Amino acid sequence: MCMNQRRFCECGKNSAFISFRDNLLPPEILLHLYCPRCASAAARDETSMLADCGWVLEYDVDRAQNYFDLRGLKPRATPAYLFDEGYLSWQGLAPGDQEVNAQLHRRLAPLVRQDYSLYLKKLKTEWLAHVAGLKAAGWRKAQAT
Ligand SMILES: [Zn+2]
Repeated sequence: MCMNQRRFCECGKNSAFISFRDNLLPPEILLHLYCPRCASAAARDETSMLADCGWVLEYDVDRAQNYFDLRGLKPRATPAYLFDEGYLSWQGLAPGDQEVNAQLHRRLAPLVRQDYSLYLKKLKTEWLAHVAGLKAAGWRKAQAT
């Protein structure tokens, strides 16, 4: 079971749901989260930061490495690795995914009783359209889908 947590960005205007693969790393390893509004205030440091469509995640890579070492994990705890492998990453493919998914289910809910197979079909096609949009927009995790 992987823990999820909603994190607000530095300016407090936006938030993202964060996933913690295997609960390996505690939330504070993500030192700072910047949304596109507040990211310009963030220093750029590729050794500790990862940018994704205007958002910036800043990691405590040294502490993350300690957790990796304790578990005997071989890879280097780089920002790209932590993000791409889901150790501290978006829940879903982008910061707003949780909400998009919830809205989609709410919107299609009336169909559940009317036509369940149509409901499943629409759920799938609309979600795939959403993912295609994320991919086209350049979201990092969506590129792998
Ligand atoms: Zn912000």
